[in-house]
Amino acid sequence: MTRSELATRGGRVCPVCRGPSEPRIDLGDFQLLHCGECGCWASDAGVRTARTSFSPDSYFENADLDRDKWDALLRRLGDRRASIHAALDVGCGTGAFLRHLRDVLPQVRREGIELDPERSATAAAADRDARIHATDALAGLARTPGPFDLVTLWDVFEHVDAPTQLLVGLAERLSPGGLIYLQTIHERSLLPVLGRATYRASLGHLRYPARRTHEPHHLVFFTRPGLERAASAAGLRIRELWFDRLHRGRMDGHPLVTAATSLLLRAENALGGGLFVNVLLERAEASASVGPDRGDHQILPEDMP
Ligand SMILES: [Zn+2]
Repeated sequence: MTRSELATRGGRVCPVCRGPSEPRIDLGDFQLLHCGECGCWASDAGVRTARTSFSPDSYFENADLDRDKWDALLRRLGDRRASIHAALDVGCGTGAFLRHLRDVLPQVRREGIELDPERSATAAAADRDARIHATDALAGLARTPGPFDLVTLWDVFEHVDAPTQLLVGLAERLSPGGLIYLQTIHERSLLPVLGRATYRASLGHLRYPARRTHEPHHLVFFTRPGLERAASAAGLRIRELWFDRLHRGRMDGHPLVTAATSLLLRAENALGGGLFVNVLLERAEASASVGPDRGDHQILPEDMP
């Protein structure tokens, strides 16, 4: 598998499952392609000159909200925490999660990959014992042979143009009982579905909702079947899958709009869905040794503040 084969660059091949993809939503400076097999959507914004409306400041703030999610993951790992000796955080930003890991599990050897040179320099300066690689995720694999007991991708997977290829590389770096955790946007959640429905209902004239729910800095939008196929291609299986919602503290826009959106997302989460899908992946062969109560199950919904 080469990078160009499975990357989203506007080609007609799904970057998640290799299924046939068709352009369905034209947002002017980029377009969204739909995969007929796994249902994922891919954007060609990475090879266009599309401009995002997101603000890096609000995007990387809210450390308290992040801490809640980090602790929720670590609680979920339960007794497995004691067997984590090496961890890799892909897209580690300023290294906040790695430092949290150091505080909670001081025995863990820490590595991070971060594309942004400023953030990676901050991460390296703030935690001298961690190895931080200032490069993109796929290139970083060559520098991180592992093995790792825990690999994390917090809000990163949707930014990667070749996500399945990345997962294959990460799976090769897992220790025998190792786990990969990733959180990404769930394309079958209310907001992206509404964004696409508005575009369709207006015959492509009303682009704004689809654009806001598919910003060009995100390249792939995942469904559960897509995540399952990507996991399978990497020799992995979903051990746990759960949803949570976008917290109001992370939304921008008019207060009335964010209040209404927040209510909608709360309702969706209460019904078992959510804008964010979280998956904990393990080696597929690990399933042979699990007990009867540890199958591929869905945990609903995450208890968020
Ligand atoms: Zn697909």
